[in-house]
Amino acid sequence: GTLPEADLVIRLLDEAHARFAGVEDGAVADYIPALASSDPAQFGLSIVGVHGARHSVGDAGVAFTIQSISKPFVFALMANELGHEKVRELLGVNNSGLPFDSVLAVELNPGRTANPMVNAGAIATTSLVPGADAAAKWEFVRAGLSRFAGRELAVDEEVYASESHSNARNEGIARLLEGYGRIYSDPIEATDIYTRQCSLLVTTEDLAVMSATLADGGVNPITQERVIDEDSCKRTLAVLATAGLYERSGEWLYEVGLPAKSGVSGGIITVIPGKGGLASFSPPLDDAGNSVRGTLATAYLSTTLGLNVFASQ
Ligand code: GLN
Repeated sequence: GTLPEADLVIRLLDEAHARFAGVEDGAVADYIPALASSDPAQFGLSIVGVHGARHSVGDAGVAFTIQSISKPFVFALMANELGHEKVRELLGVNNSGLPFDSVLAVELNPGRTANPMVNAGAIATTSLVPGADAAAKWEFVRAGLSRFAGRELAVDEEVYASESHSNARNEGIARLLEGYGRIYSDPIEATDIYTRQCSLLVTTEDLAVMSATLADGGVNPITQERVIDEDSCKRTLAVLATAGLYERSGEWLYEVGLPAKSGVSGGIITVIPGKGGLASFSPPLDDAGNSVRGTLATAYLSTTLGLNVFASQ
């Protein structure tokens, strides 16, 4: 399969931007102090096809921190390292139905971590990263996500410091997991590496390449590098379909019909399996923490471009 022809893709990307740029609903995240100053007007969209075609509109070159969109890529790297059975056993792959930072997701879930797309499961995923010390583990994560993006990614030190100084909740989740034997290295070190991975700077152009790599069975369509094996890629998409948008994952799949992942800085990646990757950025969020304009634009594009994976044609 391929995306529809370039002219139509460009026209509908422009149309989606024009249609939803004026929507004023939602609020920027402020529980991480440095995110509170995000510009609510920013809005960018990018799409990358598995054959390398790239189109963008709006603020597609604006850098922002990746936040929770790092979760599927670290999970994919660990599935690639350990195999899909091991990561399912250690991390879980069921939707929690609860907010991303929920402690109840840990308490009420028999597997404790619930899945790798909420904070508990994501911190546990990062605790599995190989390396002799924290610096080596961090480099594994940074280099791995950079291969998905096809360029060297770097941390926004201000956002990293800001979240590090207001990180009691994530450290608490990691300690709780430790109590259940569901974290696999030092919990505070794992939380720190997780916080760094969330602070990596990306644009929607980067995220669309990263997303297209997941659409392409693990091969980056721009660099042609195989980043992860095909099986790990397929498993990652299954987790995104069930748990990529926190407690709104069901509604998202119902409306959009594609695996996706959101983050609190306002990004969303959407994977069009076998065809390409879409990315949006707009900071105002709904009450589950998903970008309002990003959700609207993605639903519009899925419908108009005919991308829903459940459609018969
Ligand atoms: N770094 C953020 C946190 O752990 C990421 C959360 C998110 O994007 N949902 O709270």
